[in-house]
Amino acid sequence: MSNSSAYSAGSIPGPYRPVGGPDDTSDDGPGSGPAPVRARKSEGDGGQRRKLDYPPLPEPLPVPVIDNHTHLDFSDGLVEVSLRAALDAAEAAGVAGVVQVGSDLESSRFTVKAVDADPRILGAVALHPNDAPKLAAEGSLEEALQEIEQLAAHPRIRAIGETGLDYFRTPQEGIERQRYSFRRHLDIAKRLGLALQIHDRDAHDDVVATVLEEGAPERVVLHCFSGDAALARICNENGWYMSFAGTVTFKNAGNLREALAIADPSLILAETDSPFLTPHPYRGQPNASYVVPYTVRAMAEVLGADLEELCGRIRANSTAVYGSWD
Ligand SMILES: [Zn+2]
Repeated sequence: MSNSSAYSAGSIPGPYRPVGGPDDTSDDGPGSGPAPVRARKSEGDGGQRRKLDYPPLPEPLPVPVIDNHTHLDFSDGLVEVSLRAALDAAEAAGVAGVVQVGSDLESSRFTVKAVDADPRILGAVALHPNDAPKLAAEGSLEEALQEIEQLAAHPRIRAIGETGLDYFRTPQEGIERQRYSFRRHLDIAKRLGLALQIHDRDAHDDVVATVLEEGAPERVVLHCFSGDAALARICNENGWYMSFAGTVTFKNAGNLREALAIADPSLILAETDSPFLTPHPYRGQPNASYVVPYTVRAMAEVLGADLEELCGRIRANSTAVYGSWD
C-alpha cells in the first residue's frame, strides 16, 4: 500500500499532486471505487481565488483515529483522487477509516457504492437542510426521504446525516420545511437504530429543542461542532457526541476551544468535513482525510492531553458511535 515516495511527511501525498508528476497514480485501475459526482468551486465563498494545492502530509499520528465526516463524493483542487488512493493516504497519516457522508440523493447513492468499494469506509445518508426546502417546494421530499431510508438499510450505512438546521442560508419561509425534514430524519434514525449526524449552523437552540421534543436516537453527533461552552454542557448532559473539525484551529475560534476544553472526553470525535474547512495554516486549501492529524494535534494542545491517549479516545468513541469498520 504505502510507499515512501507517495507518502512522506512534509510533502504532498503522491495522489494529491497535480497530474503528470513523477508519482502520478491517477490511473488506479478497476476496483478503486466510484468516481466523485461533483466538484468544489475553485473560488472561495466571496468569489476570491483560493490556493488549490493540498496540504503536506503531516507527521503520522501515533495511534490511528477515524475521520467521522468526509465528502469523498466531492473532488477539489487540480486532481481527481480515487477512493483507494484517498484511503491509502489517510492510512499513511494515521487515519484508519472514515465515515463518508451523503447530503443529497446523488451523493447518498455514491455513499452506498463507496462503502462496498473499500473496507475503510462506513457511510451516512441524508438530505441536507439547505436542500430540503427546495425538495418540499417541488413536491419531491417524501419520495426522496423514502429513498434515503432504503439506502440506509445497507449494513455499512451506520448513520443518518447530515441533517439538521441551517439558518445561515435559508430564508424564513424555508425554515418550517427544514424543521419538518429534520424531524423525519430523526424518525428514520430511531426506527433503523442508526446514529444521527447533525448539521447545525446558526441554529443551536432550535436543534437542541427539536431533538429533545422528538426524542433523541441512541447516538447523536453534532458534526463540525460550532457551539460554545454552554452547548458543550448540553451535549455532556445528554450524552451527545461533539465532532471537532479544522475550525477548532482557526484563530478566531476561542469559543470552540472553550467548548472542547469542557467536553466529556468520552464524547469527543474528530473530522475533516473535507474537502472543506481545512485546518490552520492551510485554511482555504483543499482538505482530505489525511489532514486530520493537524486538527487532532491542536485538540491535544487545547486539552493539555497526551496525544496517544487522545487518539485512542477518538478511535474508541468513533467505534462506540458507528460500530466496527472490520
Ligand atoms: Zn459535511
